[in-house]
Amino acid sequence: MTELYPWLLPQFNQMQALTSKGQLAHALVLTGAAGIGKDALARALAALLLCKNRQPDGACDTCKSCLLRLAGNHADLLVLQTETQHIGVDAIRQLNQFTYGAAQQQGYKVVIIPAADTMTEAAANALLKTLEEPPAGCFIILVSSNYPQLSATIRSRCQQWQLHAGSKATLSQWLNAQSNTPMPPFLLDYCQGAPLKALSMLKSEQATSLTEVLALLEDYFSGKLQLTALVKQLDGKAELSGLLGFYLRQRLARPADFLRQQAVLTAYQRWCRDATRIIGQNSALALSGLLTELKPLLQHQEMKWKS
Ligand SMILES: [Zn+2]
Repeated sequence: MTELYPWLLPQFNQMQALTSKGQLAHALVLTGAAGIGKDALARALAALLLCKNRQPDGACDTCKSCLLRLAGNHADLLVLQTETQHIGVDAIRQLNQFTYGAAQQQGYKVVIIPAADTMTEAAANALLKTLEEPPAGCFIILVSSNYPQLSATIRSRCQQWQLHAGSKATLSQWLNAQSNTPMPPFLLDYCQGAPLKALSMLKSEQATSLTEVLALLEDYFSGKLQLTALVKQLDGKAELSGLLGFYLRQRLARPADFLRQQAVLTAYQRWCRDATRIIGQNSALALSGLLTELKPLLQHQEMKWKS
């Protein structure tokens, strides 16, 4: 079998055991943070279900069914693809059609729906009936980084598999083995424990940029860096709201009084909202406004923290 990420193995083994007993649910949803490996697990499970010569560690990769799949040419596997940001009703109709009729390789049929939470309401409705009564021998695997966003009716008809990434120590070890860049200690927290996201940040040097931004913010709030210098460095930075939000969460984890915490969060949320709602907003000005508002709140907190 194509090697699966080590933290996915316990759940894959469970799926394997259920498959061999014929007890795997016909509609599943794999959930967890972006970059935890949901797509990889969905594909490994699809490979297992389609394989004609299952091995103790998964699909054999050598039977006719596996070869067709590896060539991207398996008539009984459908990975839903969409060119837009949403999965529309047409894609689901195509899926429904696919599920009917016998499998061409005399085995199971498998459908993978990546980013299932982007289904439109009409698409979700069109999928319901198939989820309720999946045609015999058909498995539908939904993948979602944003589970609450999936409609409740869809959720209630799928067995949820919440993916876990394992201990921080094991993941750090794995990440260090994959990349030459030393891993900043907070990177996994920033990625909500998702190792693949952390790895892509390490490889793209986004991790270095994150370290720099955190240091700049710390300097500003401790009075070592001027506002204008900070804004010049930060304005227009990719993922700025995520970076700033992460910094604030770290700061708020230190002891502080409740009202100040609320004030910090409110200011941050207003800034995030304005950035998407106010068209043509002067971003440097808005950022300066936010940082100025936050400074006394966080400075006071620091004094309290030190005393
Ligand atoms: Zn095989």
